[in-house]
Amino acid sequence: MANTQWESKLARRLAAISVAGGLANCLLRFYRLDWRPDAFGLYLFAFLVVLSALLIFRGQYKIIVPVMVGNMLLIGLWISTLTPEPRPGPLLVMHTGVVIAAAYYRFWGALSVLAAGTLGLTAIAWFLAPRFQNMPTSLPAGTSLPLHWLSVSFGFTTVSLIISALISYVVNRMEKALQNTQKLLVEATERQTALEEKERLLKLFTELSSDYVYQVSLKKPNLVPQVFAGSFERITGYALDELELKGGWLAIVHPDDRESLQRRMPALLDGESLISEYRIISADGRTVWLRDHVRPIRDEVTGAVAELLGAVHDITERRLAEEQVENLAFYDPLTSLPNRRLLLDRLEQALALSARTGLRGALLFIDLDHFKNLNDTKGHEAGDELLIQQARRLRLCVREGDTVARLGGDEFIIILGELEGDAETAARETTEITQRILHTLSLPVALSYRQLTDYENTCSIGVATFLGHEVTVDELLRRADMAMYQAKADGRNTFRFFDPTMQKILSERLTLEEDLKLALSAGQLELYLQPQVEVDRLTGAEVLLRWQHPEKGMIAPLEFIPAAERTGLIVEIGDWVMRAAVDILQGWAKKSETAHLCLAVNVSARQFRQPDFTHSIGRALELAGVPAGRLKLELTESLALENIGDTVERMQILRSLGVGLSLDDFGTGQSSLSYLKRLPITQLKIDQAFVRDITNDPNDAVLVQTIIGMAKNLKLDIIAEGVETREQRDFLLQHGCSAFQGYLFGKPIPWAEFEATFLKKAS
Ligand code: C2E
Ligand code: CA
Ligand code: CA
Repeated sequence: MANTQWESKLARRLAAISVAGGLANCLLRFYRLDWRPDAFGLYLFAFLVVLSALLIFRGQYKIIVPVMVGNMLLIGLWISTLTPEPRPGPLLVMHTGVVIAAAYYRFWGALSVLAAGTLGLTAIAWFLAPRFQNMPTSLPAGTSLPLHWLSVSFGFTTVSLIISALISYVVNRMEKALQNTQKLLVEATERQTALEEKERLLKLFTELSSDYVYQVSLKKPNLVPQVFAGSFERITGYALDELELKGGWLAIVHPDDRESLQRRMPALLDGESLISEYRIISADGRTVWLRDHVRPIRDEVTGAVAELLGAVHDITERRLAEEQVENLAFYDPLTSLPNRRLLLDRLEQALALSARTGLRGALLFIDLDHFKNLNDTKGHEAGDELLIQQARRLRLCVREGDTVARLGGDEFIIILGELEGDAETAARETTEITQRILHTLSLPVALSYRQLTDYENTCSIGVATFLGHEVTVDELLRRADMAMYQAKADGRNTFRFFDPTMQKILSERLTLEEDLKLALSAGQLELYLQPQVEVDRLTGAEVLLRWQHPEKGMIAPLEFIPAAERTGLIVEIGDWVMRAAVDILQGWAKKSETAHLCLAVNVSARQFRQPDFTHSIGRALELAGVPAGRLKLELTESLALENIGDTVERMQILRSLGVGLSLDDFGTGQSSLSYLKRLPITQLKIDQAFVRDITNDPNDAVLVQTIIGMAKNLKLDIIAEGVETREQRDFLLQHGCSAFQGYLFGKPIPWAEFEATFLKKAS
């Protein structure tokens, strides 16, 4: 055992003293015997050699002590056989040896051995004393032998006591010291493990509450942190020394976030704790979002901020989720362009920026030409593909900072901000960009969906410029919209700048829309009827609306029907017309002379698409007890082709009721014969534009002839509208069209007047 080393040391010191003493004794004995050593002397010498060997080889106390004690016993016995006179010396030597041996192990044990030995020796002296009474003795006169033995044994006892006490004391002290050391050692290890445990927990806690914690000394350049716990390397991809080589912390911060991060430095140096969210570019090129909570620590002596302590979170996932949500709310999923909401926001910002900088901007309203055609004829997938490709092209036409947004459908908006120079220069720059857009968008597009390799599509653009907050966002959009309509009206594939005359039209349009809202309830709408004839016999009339405006007088339907369609009022108005028409038919049905007359009612697309349109007509006719064949609906080609599947379905329902269906303004649309064939219509109505020139334009004459021939082939009725002259009527009649409507037979007049004029005649 390691802690028995001191015992061996003690044993070796005692042995060394014995060797020294023994050697002196030995040499003295040899000298007295004239260097002719006797057996005892030789033994003594041999013993000293053995002891020295033990010393030299650093013998353990377990060997040294028994050897020394054994030697004492041996010498004690030997001497006692050599002397003629019983002397206590040898016995006492043995006695001392035993005491030392005992003391080595236990103090009280040593004392009892000592006491027993002393008493034993004295008893022996008592017993032997009478036998040696007469022997010559070297004892001083008057000293009896037992007394002498007692005094000698007391002397030895005292020496042994002192020795054993000494040894015991030393042993105890050493034991105590050892115990103390051991205790201290245990305590220290306990403290160490407790510390280590605390550190481990701290590390776990920091990892739980953040991804890593760090300390940055402001004395060192580059802000390379010292990281205490966490996954610095996993997040950044850099080891700290690599980061140092890279040029420090700011070197890996995302370039867009560097400035804002540096701007916060002064606050930190003021001792303010900050939480910042910013991006870094990790070693493998990923963008990582971090949330960094920094606390400045002041130097105790100078009081200045000397280091920063921070806890960092990787919030990339949260940020991505946020971005996704934002995308859903602010971006058009098809083209990934900003949607209307974000556009309005950006437009607000653009106006504010313009107000601040005094620089002009422009709003471009872009509408793809004939987009509906593609959508209707090639399907929505093809339409979507075109939108995506044109959106991509639009982005390429403008500068990085300009906003390109999708307003909905085939409408796009571009905001051009910060145009330098005066109004004219700004307009010139805008024109350049606009022309570039017109050109780029008109290049052929490959639509993989329908394998259309060179689909050609153009667009019309309306431009409105702005400076500061001159106009509101709404107004600006309306202006650009208006200019776009002008571009469409001027033949498409072109652009128009908004100008003040447009503004006038625009505001008039707005007031008209406002007024129209009241027109129906105020009873300002009136039904006019225009006769329809077969050769020269009255067959019925077309219902035409009139608006008696309180200030502006009579307003023609061409002016207010589009407004009603834009605002959606057409549904309500159309309903009213339909009910009025059924009322009239009901009145006619009661009299035999009018019971055969039909009414043709114009129907707008929006009205036709109402979910209950067919149903409500059927019910109205039934309630009124009017035969359905007396009602004829006039539908336009564009309405019919808008959504041909739904149209055909509705038309079939109406047909099954018995309601007549007339295709109005026929010849002005671009419908193909194949589409026409799919529509379950009963009548074609030749547009008045063809009728007008029928007698002096051979082209129109041929066209009308063709239409008549086509109607015959498809077994459809045919009627011509806008017949104003006898020549026109005769021409039509000659070529097989015998139904007419036009000023020649009568202008549209209020129904009461119509009844008074025509029905009297008829009766
Ligand atoms: P439309 O359906 O093509 O109506 C025929 C138009 O031609 C009427 O104009 C009529 O007054 C005019 N007209 C008739 N005969 C002649 C003629 O011999 N010479 C000339 N130059 N014109 C003639 P109006 O009444 O101004 O109606 C214009 C358009 O307004 C109509 O065109 C129709 O599309 C729409 N409309 C009228 N009433 C309604 C209605 O109740 N509902 C809907 N949705 N649209 C209506
Ligand atoms: Ca009509
Ligand atoms: Ca017409």
